[in-house]
Amino acid sequence: MVAKFEVVERNELKQKPDQDNLSFGIHFTDYMFTMDYSEELGWHNKKIVPYEDIPMSPASQVLHYGQAVFEGLKAYKTAAGAQLFRPNENFKRMNKSCERLEMPQLDVEEAVQALKQLISIEQDWIPTGEGQSLYIRPIMYANEPYLGVRPATSYKFLIILTPVGAYYGKGHLTPIKIFVEDEYVRAVRGGVGFAKAAGNYAASLIAQSRAEKLGYNQVLWLDGVEQSYIEEVGSMNIFFVFGNKLVTPQLNGSILPGITRKSILQLAAHLGYEVEERRIHIDEVVSAAKDGSLTEVFGAGTAVVISPVGEIKYKDEVVTIGSGNTGEVTQKLYDAYTSIQNGTSEDPFRWCLSV
Ligand SMILES: *Cc1c(COP(=O)(O)O)cnc(C)c1O
Repeated sequence: MVAKFEVVERNELKQKPDQDNLSFGIHFTDYMFTMDYSEELGWHNKKIVPYEDIPMSPASQVLHYGQAVFEGLKAYKTAAGAQLFRPNENFKRMNKSCERLEMPQLDVEEAVQALKQLISIEQDWIPTGEGQSLYIRPIMYANEPYLGVRPATSYKFLIILTPVGAYYGKGHLTPIKIFVEDEYVRAVRGGVGFAKAAGNYAASLIAQSRAEKLGYNQVLWLDGVEQSYIEEVGSMNIFFVFGNKLVTPQLNGSILPGITRKSILQLAAHLGYEVEERRIHIDEVVSAAKDGSLTEVFGAGTAVVISPVGEIKYKDEVVTIGSGNTGEVTQKLYDAYTSIQNGTSEDPFRWCLSV
């Protein structure tokens, strides 16, 4: 590809981590993409630079009023080279997050171009083991030093990269246990739940900690108004399988519109399943789990891809989903989805973009 952005070379490359022991988000690659925004210049200073700390004023607006949004996507090494999974979708979603938080818009095509150039420089950092990938984290935040409450006039945009291992070794999915949170809420309609805004995660930590103390892996969030309808789980959207039919909560402004969610809906329909987006009451989930009509439950998000749910706790009730093991539909979707991502099967939807 034609190099487009200036590259500031580093003197020495880093030692790459051991591929067999990759954990999430600890090791960062040699380079990152960076650009600055000001009202006078718009986005400028676009370049690929050595990954390094960033000086910041103690009065930077992001530290006080939280104008920060991010994205998460992955690059895979295939027999034909590196490829990205639906990167345009991520930058389009970032623009929606930015719009809500009064932050500047990105040029989606330019952001994809910058990402492609960065990935092509960092190809050797994409781990090649089964289920491994290079996790990509675009981020934007307000860096104007000013303590007044109003949209900042200057921002920074970065793309950083971190090699990640398979969430599950050797494609063997392990069911998680989820705790239905009935006190705290993650988001309300009219708020910022649909945005990948940094503050949403700060607000969710207390419930996650409590669930973990009780022996659960993740929190299942209910809607913020009636506290009765299913929203999503941790940083994943959620799917309920009733035999041959997949049901997921409809997007309502407080649920994060996952790209995995959207892609699974398309893929499942393509594979012959019936798919439905609608409101789902927690009581329906509990009773359908008990009478056996709810056969499988899984979470879906970029980091884990698909995560089977084996057990749900709601108030005093604990229900097992199906046999408590990974269901057939979940496994089939996981296999079909990951083989498109890692280039071992056809890509009928042209989701992958080669670098
Ligand atoms: C990122 C995220 C998801 C999943 O989105 P993907 O685009 O599929 O990765 C779901 N819920 C929340 C709260 C998220 O932050």
